[in-house]
Amino acid sequence: MSDKKQTNTPIAIGISSCLLGEKVRFDTGHKNNDYITKTLSQYFQFRGFCPEVSIGLGIPREPIRLVTDTIDGEVRCIGTKTPELDVTDKLTQCGKDQLDWVKTLSGYIFKKDSPSCGMERVKVYYKNNPKRNGVGLFASVITQHCPNLPTEEEGRLGDAMLRENFIKRVFLYHRWQQLIGSNPSKKQLVRFHAQHKLIYMSHNQSKTRKLGQLVAKIGEFEQNDYCEQYLQQVTDILSKPATRKNNTNVLKHIQGYLKRQLDTDDKQELEETIEQYRTGLVPLIVPITILKHHFRKFPDQYIDDSLYMQPHPQELMLRNQL
Ligand code: SF4
Repeated sequence: MSDKKQTNTPIAIGISSCLLGEKVRFDTGHKNNDYITKTLSQYFQFRGFCPEVSIGLGIPREPIRLVTDTIDGEVRCIGTKTPELDVTDKLTQCGKDQLDWVKTLSGYIFKKDSPSCGMERVKVYYKNNPKRNGVGLFASVITQHCPNLPTEEEGRLGDAMLRENFIKRVFLYHRWQQLIGSNPSKKQLVRFHAQHKLIYMSHNQSKTRKLGQLVAKIGEFEQNDYCEQYLQQVTDILSKPATRKNNTNVLKHIQGYLKRQLDTDDKQELEETIEQYRTGLVPLIVPITILKHHFRKFPDQYIDDSLYMQPHPQELMLRNQL
């Protein structure tokens, strides 16, 4: 698979700035994440932002937390020592004020557990008892207003499956942004679908079929409506990581493109490797490497154009643990 399919323009990712090692936390500390600053920074251009500093809370500052007066009631963000310090409206407005630049990004990585930046399971205090069912106020505005923007918490990037899924979504979304920015023809939009169809299949086959019906009717749509619906459906398909079962089905589907080219031994080896992947004996990278080897000898235009076997740079080694 040639590298020409990977984008050459910088991929901008928003990020809670403490994760970049910036000393912006309430206690003047940071939460540098080595995987982000040493590995991902080679591929992404990070745009750090600290909402709490942005609304004028200093460094150091009194910690803030989410509270509610009634179960399932309104959640507000106040000082842990000074309840009169209520920054709910300021944090919400801060999120809204950032939307112009955030909408140009290809992804966002949030700091977990933060009453400002956490995406899920943030502590909400009711009568001093915390319940982990809250969302950081800044993160909430960003995810609500940018529903198709790939977002993730740094803590979840430690999980191989979630990490691969997030980075795959970022690269795919960036390719989509580039395509849309180039005022594409209907033919180019259909080609984008063909390039990504096997990726979608590895996530959800029935939703991919439904998406295929939308693509087949592209001529009936006003282009903006088509693009909006297409992206919404893609976001939904990719919201859950690809499964081993679906990846196995896709690998077998790809294998079908070689049925006339491979001799009996090669066919058997490929089948056995896909079966070893299915049962968890080898990671996804193993059958993919064998398939790539065969397609180098027996090229196929559809498979060569597809991004399934290389949705992100190989050097990130994201499929070595799947
Ligand atoms: S508000 Fe967000 S960026 Fe700022 S220190 Fe807290 S988690 Fe980090």
